[in-house]
Amino acid sequence: MADIIPLAKARKTQRKKKASGKTMCKSGFHKWTIDQSKQFDVRSGRLVTIRRCERCAETRTTLD
Ligand SMILES: [Zn+2]
Repeated sequence: MADIIPLAKARKTQRKKKASGKTMCKSGFHKWTIDQSKQFDVRSGRLVTIRRCERCAETRTTLD
């Protein structure tokens, strides 16, 4: 397979990149940033780190 991408396809890819944020999120590739440094999770009884996605504002907590 050649690596040359037809111009029409390349343009489509560029357009996609601009609106790729939500698409990335939908695919599970969130842009996580740490929201609050530490928070106590009552259920697990441990300190957790809260991460928030810059694009879709979804949050995720992870155990340290
Ligand atoms: Zn996201």
